[in-house]
Amino acid sequence: MRFFDPHIHMSSRTTDDYQAMADAGIRAVIEPAFWLGQPRTEVGSFIDYFSSLVGWERFRASQFGIAHFCTIGLNSKEANNEALAEQVLELMPRFALKEGVVAVGEIGYDEITKAEDRVLEWQMNFANEHELPVMVHSPHRDKKRGIVRTLDLAKATGVPMEMLIMDHNNEETVEDSLNAGAWAAFTIYPHTKMGSERMVEVVKKYGPERIIVDSSADWGVSDPLSVPKTAKLMLEAGIDPKAVELVTWQNALDAYSQSGQIDTEALLSTPVIDQSQLFLENSVLRGQEPRVDEAVPN
Ligand SMILES: [Zn+2]
Repeated sequence: MRFFDPHIHMSSRTTDDYQAMADAGIRAVIEPAFWLGQPRTEVGSFIDYFSSLVGWERFRASQFGIAHFCTIGLNSKEANNEALAEQVLELMPRFALKEGVVAVGEIGYDEITKAEDRVLEWQMNFANEHELPVMVHSPHRDKKRGIVRTLDLAKATGVPMEMLIMDHNNEETVEDSLNAGAWAAFTIYPHTKMGSERMVEVVKKYGPERIIVDSSADWGVSDPLSVPKTAKLMLEAGIDPKAVELVTWQNALDAYSQSGQIDTEALLSTPVIDQSQLFLENSVLRGQEPRVDEAVPN
């Protein structure tokens, strides 16, 4: 099976993770722009971070045969630094319209403040203007309220529901997202309430349509193999393999290829790895023998 992990912060992961993900069948990832665990103090930090998402990280993934896409946006936490937020929004046209950027995101609410409202509305309008999908981060506290408020704002700003991917859902919010017509994504964290077992139950109850599984793995306790592990558990639980394929591959592809930035045919072909390549004269290797695949006719 091949897998798509449409929410993972690879900048905070190791090359061992990339290798394990490739070995487990993960063929494509989306890395949403987010905060860094502590607040940034300068707009230049955002410039360099966004540049790495469309540059170095994309290259690093390619060295392991994984297609790397990203989303660009100002996260809800840092939206509350209003002076800095204004400067970051000015960067949006420069980065969000680049190759491989498949959505505006991850945006949404953290503490549900007025500043977060303004920044979210601005970014939804920006996404509409450029016909980009919107990836929504829902708050970990007060999740239901955050999700309902985001759906209301999306409707008010005219974001088409098929362009809206609501992430970090749980059993209490899944119906809000699905009934609104949006995509409902679920983050599977190890040793938590929203683990793989509960995901199996969600798919049994609601079916696979518009449901997406992701890992949101980052610098915290998380698992970059959550998507293939959940798929395995679903198959063992007797869920139709076609349904498993929808929630761990096809739905994410359908949602984010609305950006026009995903070459589906290339994704379906066998990746050709060439580790002799360099990015700005930099390699992922440290003296190891580079793997250089022969191009295979498909
Ligand atoms: Zn995230």
